[in-house]
Amino acid sequence: MAELIDGKALAKEVRAEVKARAEAFRATHNRAPGLDVVLVGEDPASQVYVRNKERAAAKAGIEGRVHRLPAETTEADLLTLIFELNGDDHIDGILVQLPLPDHLHDQTIIDAIDPAKDVDGLHPFNAGLLVVGRKGLRPCTPSGCMRMLEHVACDPKGKRALVLGRSTLVGKPIALMLLEKHATVTIAHSRTIDLADRVRESDIVIAAVGRANLVKGDWIKEGAVVIDVGINRLDDGSLTGDVDFAGAKERASHITPVPGGVGPMTIAMLLSNTVDAAQARIL
Ligand code: NAP
Repeated sequence: MAELIDGKALAKEVRAEVKARAEAFRATHNRAPGLDVVLVGEDPASQVYVRNKERAAAKAGIEGRVHRLPAETTEADLLTLIFELNGDDHIDGILVQLPLPDHLHDQTIIDAIDPAKDVDGLHPFNAGLLVVGRKGLRPCTPSGCMRMLEHVACDPKGKRALVLGRSTLVGKPIALMLLEKHATVTIAHSRTIDLADRVRESDIVIAAVGRANLVKGDWIKEGAVVIDVGINRLDDGSLTGDVDFAGAKERASHITPVPGGVGPMTIAMLLSNTVDAAQARIL
C-alpha cells in the first residue's frame, strides 16, 4: 500500500521557508519582495486562483498586488501595464493569470514580461535556461513535483521516468527537470500508442493530461512513485486526477492524492520563485 505524498503539509513547509527568506529580505533591503498579479476578465476559476495567490503571498510576507482589468482590455493597454510593472523597482514578480480572454494572445503577453520577473517561468528566455541546464525561474507546478520527489527521497538518477503530457506549462519542463536529475525520460502524449506498456516499465510516473482515470491502477509498476498533476471535475462536482488512485495506491510506493497533492505545491513554489527573483534582482 502506497504512502501518500501530502501536498498540503509539504506546501506548508515550503511556505514557512519562504516566509523566513522574505523576512530576511525585508530586514536587509527595507522592503518586502513584491508580487504583482494581473487578472483580465471575470473567469470564476481564475478569480479563485488569484484570490488564493493574494492570500498566500500576504501570509508569506510578500507584498502582493492584484491588477483586475475588464475582459475587453486591449492588447495595447495590457502591454502598457506589463511595461510599467517591468519598470517598477519594487516589483520582483509579475504573473499574468492564464488563460487570457480569446482576443489576447497568451504568448505575446508573456513575451513582454521582464524574464527576471517571470515568476511563472513561462518566458521563452527562462524556458531556454532550463533547456541548457542553467539557473533561472522555472515553472511552478513542475518545480513542485520535483520537490515532492525530493521529499520522499526519490532520486531520479538512473530511474525510468514517464511524463504524460507535453505542455509548455507542465509536461515539457518536468521532463527536462527529470533529465537534469539523470532519469531516463519518456514523454507520452495524445499520439502515444502503447501507453500501458510505457507506464508498466516506469519507476516514476508523472501524469499531466487532464483526463480522469486515464492511467489504470494495474499499469503501475510495483514500487513506482506516482505524481498526479491532473485536475478533473467529475459529474458529481468532485475533483479527481488522471490516475486511478484506488488501484494505483495498491502498487505504488508513494502517490499524490487529488485534491491535496500537487495543487497546493504550485502556489508555494510561486512564492518561492518570487523571493528567488527578489534576491537575484538585487545581486
Ligand atoms: P494541456 O496543455 O491540455 O496538455 C495536456 C497534454 O496531455 C497534451 O500534451 C496532450 O497531448 C496530452 N494528452 C492528451 N490525451 C492524452 C492521452 N490519451 N495520453 C497521453 N497524453 C495525452 O494541459 P496542462 O496545462 O499540461 O495540464 C494538464 C493537467 O494538469 C490538467 O488537468 C490541468 O488542470 C492540470 N494542472 C494542474 C496544476 C496543479 O497545480 N495541480 C497545474 C497545471 C495544470 P498532445 O500534446 O499530443 O495534445
